Amino acid sequence: MKFDVLTLFPDMFNVLKESIIGRATRNKQIEIRITNIRDFSKDKHKKVDDTPYGGGAGMVLKPDVVYDAYVSIPKEKSAKVIYLSPQGKTLNQAKVEELAKEEHLILLCGHYEGIDQRVIDTIVDEEISIGDYVLTGGELPAMVLMDSVSRYVEGVLAKESVGEESFSEGLLEYPQYTRPEVFMGKKVPEVLLSGHHANIRKWRKEKSLFNTYQKRPELLQNRKLSEEEKLVIQRFKKESKEN
Ligand code: SAM
Repeated sequence: MKFDVLTLFPDMFNVLKESIIGRATRNKQIEIRITNIRDFSKDKHKKVDDTPYGGGAGMVLKPDVVYDAYVSIPKEKSAKVIYLSPQGKTLNQAKVEELAKEEHLILLCGHYEGIDQRVIDTIVDEEISIGDYVLTGGELPAMVLMDSVSRYVEGVLAKESVGEESFSEGLLEYPQYTRPEVFMGKKVPEVLLSGHHANIRKWRKEKSLFNTYQKRPELLQNRKLSEEEKLVIQRFKKESKEN
């Protein structure tokens, strides 16, 4: 998977040199290339923005500079251009998995008031938001997208780690425990120490359903539940009425 990023702040992406994404880059499982939009300014002061037509606060990134930066990127035929924008569709796990199937993503990061609409209309295939709030720039959203998508690129994580995470089956994950067996008087659930794999699987499934029921009940409405899952949820409902 290749990521190209168009940004005014390349140093912000140093974060991706750390941890799992850093290792995946060094192992060539993913490739991240950063292009500084400012390098394409023809202005002697390297200006990249200007005041908005029609008035108003802030500055707008100039279309010609953004376009020249985009054109400089060597593209795969299938390259997809994404503008990180609060106006886009909100990123979720299904979208992450869909994007992970792409070969080449070009991520355009806005700043200040945003980017001249004409260049967005010319080069962008899709707008993606990371949530209903406004950030100062598209750099953090681009990193969120690259991190979440890279987890699905073959070899970046162990296969089991990807499959059992929250949202992978439309449910939140079960709680996790590690050593010590007793922490501040709280013991690890007995079943996890039993070595009985079928019971552990059953316990985890119930806890996963319970976490989802308690923390994100709307996820259950969007999921086709098995008869067994319906019974477990009815039990949770009954128990919560009794308490
Ligand atoms: N004036 C724009 C608007 O109201 O739609 C917001 C501009 S914002 C201050 C500057 C840049 O941050 C945007 O061009 C976009 O790239 C990025 N950005 C801000 N919030 C975002 C979000 N929730 N998701 C993705 N990108 C975001």
